[in-house]
Amino acid sequence: MIDDENSILTDFLKFVRSMRVVNGIGTMTFLGGNTVSDEIIESMKYVSDIFINMQDFSRIAGEYIARRLGVEAAYITAGAAAGTVLGLASLLSLKTGARYIKDIIEEGRKMVVAVQRPHKTEFRDLIYMAGPGIIEFGDEGYVSEQSLEETIKKHGKNILAVLHYELDPMDGALPLESVIRIAHSYNVPVIVDAAAEIPPKGNLTRYLKMGSDLVLYSGGKMLGGLSNSGLMVGRKDIIMMAQSLGPFSEENGPDGTRVFIGRPMKISKEIIVATVAAVERFLTFNDEDWLRKQRSMADNIAKMISDIDQEMTVRVVDPGWNHPRPVAIPRVEISFENGMSADEVCSRLKNFRVPIYTYSLDGKLYLNPQCLKEDDVPIIIDGLSSIVRAEKGETRWRN
Ligand SMILES: *Cc1c(COP(=O)(O)O)cnc(C)c1O
Repeated sequence: MIDDENSILTDFLKFVRSMRVVNGIGTMTFLGGNTVSDEIIESMKYVSDIFINMQDFSRIAGEYIARRLGVEAAYITAGAAAGTVLGLASLLSLKTGARYIKDIIEEGRKMVVAVQRPHKTEFRDLIYMAGPGIIEFGDEGYVSEQSLEETIKKHGKNILAVLHYELDPMDGALPLESVIRIAHSYNVPVIVDAAAEIPPKGNLTRYLKMGSDLVLYSGGKMLGGLSNSGLMVGRKDIIMMAQSLGPFSEENGPDGTRVFIGRPMKISKEIIVATVAAVERFLTFNDEDWLRKQRSMADNIAKMISDIDQEMTVRVVDPGWNHPRPVAIPRVEISFENGMSADEVCSRLKNFRVPIYTYSLDGKLYLNPQCLKEDDVPIIIDGLSSIVRAEKGETRWRN
């Protein structure tokens, strides 16, 4: 049907392709997350025409991944964000015995999750979805070990966990090693949000090996799976509880059948095989080679941009913590000497004939090569050239 030149679906699909943008930011959910390989699509076909017991299937897929990664336990989720909520709900259930949605939220409301003050990420508010409040520790520019200890002592058994956003190399933050050591000395579990921290590849097991209790990854970023997938790895008891509160869990009781908190975080059988395939592929992925290619792509782009106009100073830099993650990937940094604002250039590029997404930080414009294809490069050069020309008054800016 899709081959039918005259079908309405074909028209729609062609139209959708015409909406495509150049992604110079990275594996951003709002731009579609990532692109997936044919192998991922193929793997999905293996289960697309069968029925299967999803509770068993999701469990054995998690066990398979755990074995392949050499970790205690793993579970496929509907993304790192879903994993955050399901992970916290699982800890709540382990701690209080609450299982039903209402009980988890009510027990959760009596508790807090500690987050160090500099870790003000856009994902922090997800904590509220499991019920707990957020308690900050430390100061904006410096977080002491003492501040975590005092927070844990003050909140006693009402402290559910420390949620650590992996944002290295952030200055002044309390490093994960210290967080784990202190939290564990008071029996407080540590959850690590490492959604976009690969590559390097070793980061897929690193935080768990360091001793944290649960680590969350996105399946749809560098892991190469679908955007609405994720992986949690961690302590077996937490993972088992996550399964029992997960999307495929139901319980028959006197009041009828009940679902659990994971139900709105449903994944499909296709997502499960795609995530297994993504992990498998990632294990054979040569990240050092890939990072070298990223650097050489960044170098080439930088060279081409600096040829456009002398009023742009272009360098390839290793990004700081506040850039789109992962920071292992080098970036093209453009400074404008003619008074053009990077914010303005960034928003004009989005209005180019093929929308070009870049990002600006501290008055500079940045490009991340991560999601760029070879044929995106001439479009970027075109876009930047026309903005510079327009600025010089040689041509008018056209949308
Ligand atoms: C992307 C991201 C998330 C959300 O992950 P999803 O897999 O899209 O749900 C959470 N935390 C951080 C730090 C992220 O970068």
